[in-house]
Amino acid sequence: MRNRKIFVWMAAGFSLFLAACQSPKTASSSIKDVDDAILRNVESRPGEWLSHGRDYSEQRFSPLRKITAETVKELGLAWSFDTGTDRGLEATPIIVDGVMYTTGSWSKVFALDAVTGRLKWSWDPKVPRSYGAKACCDVVNRGVAIYKGKVYVGVLDGRLAALDAETGKVVWEQLTVDQSLPYTITGAPRVVNGKVIIGNGGGEYGVRGYVSAYDAETGKMAWRFYTVPGDPSKPFESPAMEKAAKTWEGEWWKLGGGGTAWDSMAYDPEMDLLYVGTGNGSPWNPHLRSPGGGDNLYLSSILALRPETGELVWHFQTTPGDAWDFTATQHMILAELQINGQARKVLMQAPKNGYFYVIDRKTGELISAEPYVTVTWAKGVDKKTGRPIENPGVRYENSPIAQKPGPLGGHNWQPMSFNPQTGLVYIPAQETDFYYSQDRNFKHRPGTWNTGVDFGIINQPPTALPTGHLLAWDPVAQKERWRVQYPVIWNGGTLSTAGNLVFQGTADGRLVAYSADKGEKLWEVVLGTGVIASPVTYEINGVQYVSVMAGWGGSFPLTGGSIGLPAPSGRLLSFALNASGGLAASKPSAPATLTPIAFTAAPGQVAKGSALFGQHCAVCHGIAALGGGGVLPDLRASDKAVFDSYRQLILDGAMVNVGMPAFKQWLTPEDVDLIRLYVLSRRAELTTRK
Ligand code: CA
Repeated sequence: MRNRKIFVWMAAGFSLFLAACQSPKTASSSIKDVDDAILRNVESRPGEWLSHGRDYSEQRFSPLRKITAETVKELGLAWSFDTGTDRGLEATPIIVDGVMYTTGSWSKVFALDAVTGRLKWSWDPKVPRSYGAKACCDVVNRGVAIYKGKVYVGVLDGRLAALDAETGKVVWEQLTVDQSLPYTITGAPRVVNGKVIIGNGGGEYGVRGYVSAYDAETGKMAWRFYTVPGDPSKPFESPAMEKAAKTWEGEWWKLGGGGTAWDSMAYDPEMDLLYVGTGNGSPWNPHLRSPGGGDNLYLSSILALRPETGELVWHFQTTPGDAWDFTATQHMILAELQINGQARKVLMQAPKNGYFYVIDRKTGELISAEPYVTVTWAKGVDKKTGRPIENPGVRYENSPIAQKPGPLGGHNWQPMSFNPQTGLVYIPAQETDFYYSQDRNFKHRPGTWNTGVDFGIINQPPTALPTGHLLAWDPVAQKERWRVQYPVIWNGGTLSTAGNLVFQGTADGRLVAYSADKGEKLWEVVLGTGVIASPVTYEINGVQYVSVMAGWGGSFPLTGGSIGLPAPSGRLLSFALNASGGLAASKPSAPATLTPIAFTAAPGQVAKGSALFGQHCAVCHGIAALGGGGVLPDLRASDKAVFDSYRQLILDGAMVNVGMPAFKQWLTPEDVDLIRLYVLSRRAELTTRK
């Protein structure tokens, strides 16, 4: 306790010292000056937000304190920028030298005046819209990285681009994937020691994960680290792959393997370790992926790599032999914690599996792991081995099983933050569940959703929607300190500041400020669209701003239709004290008056259509056709003309330009007729319900 008080006092003093040093504003200079020294010491430029998680430790904590628990109620809209999309917005903006760099859907990049919101330039990589069909979770992008006058972005179709920060012109572009395979990039790059690090996604589609490093200046590839082994009849790419191959069985490489590194990274300059989180197995079903078992390294793991060479130094596997889509791609935070009277340099993660991990980041040794949400699949984590103690039957080998968390996780990609003054981690947590069942008719379908789990069986309207909450977690005691309950899951990432504040956007369309120590709601603004991105804060000419990208998406089957809000154009909103800009409230769209469409179905046809819908359609259009959360149209509300052209629309790829593939490779015309009957039956329920 005493240590914490002293630390708070010291941190406060340090911030005042910084404030004194940078007055008048001198710290900010050209983006060309942003080099390794500055990225290692962002505290020299406290008014800016220079890398994805603000600094290499990815704490998302800002020392700025003009906006405080006392003044936050005076926040008003300073400016807004319309990104021209109604798909999900997930980017963390970067702010340097008075300019904000951010991304929208389809990997578009925007450079804006951070004081006025005026567009300086934008870059559209012109992603072929067919790539929408390879994106499991919307055509999102989580933002850019900057370094020595360039802006780096990972493009949905697998390109990595370096843009001139002044003009937005392409300096170099590299293809980081084999485009004949269903790889996508949605994560933000990081720049470490002059190398741009980028991973990719596609675990549900059957790819082999890896992370690559490119020379920031030239774009030349420096190294690539595969996260799971390939065909063992070919040479292993690294000693780590040789070791990993011993933990797989059967012919895993034919189905991809997974382990994609699609989002989280952090870097410790002192230890020179780059931390990368890896994803689930491909397919999810371990009996198909690696019959006979095995841990399947390095699925669902935290990897510590040498950024110079890509060499693996240590790994910590959160979920050995993953069977549940329990990724460890969730945001990682580096911090120094006092544990049993000792200062420990730790890495913290709240991966999907429901346990909050505190790990020694030098050695990978587990310090502690406790459940931060309801967990039914395991009894706990063995402190010696670091392995979860699984409950019987959870691998759904012989029979299906309902358990918590589900594939959306106790926490997903939405970044958590850490406030060194309160010692608390602020997690966008959620209570999710799932009915895991083997797909007994599994046939590998190249290029599309391949989980080996039966989604047809769960294609039922849920009796209750899963809920989310903002969780303030004490990582030393491994205990909840406070929470704020939300009506639905899939709320935004968090930001914490030295003003004793936590900011979070919500799925139900608000941006809220809470006191960091107690969780009291101090301010909120209604935005009219859900927020999933994390807010950022910056200061220019003595004015502190809080900004967030508002645009709900990242559509998932279980979140579909849960919020009942319209999907207005996605916006970037910047707030400041005493600013008085108006926020055009988007009015909720009136419930459509649907005229019933007559149909006749023979016994069993609707049920068959339901199973097909669950397997092929629900991933985008929502379980039980509940819609894609306003991101994609509610299929139940389609016109008769749409229902009349189902075969063409679904089989022939008429919608390929909005990201829907031609399903003739996987479905017969008769299958489509069954799906049509099912959706019509769901529509009938809607039209008869009051
Ligand atoms: Ca996944």
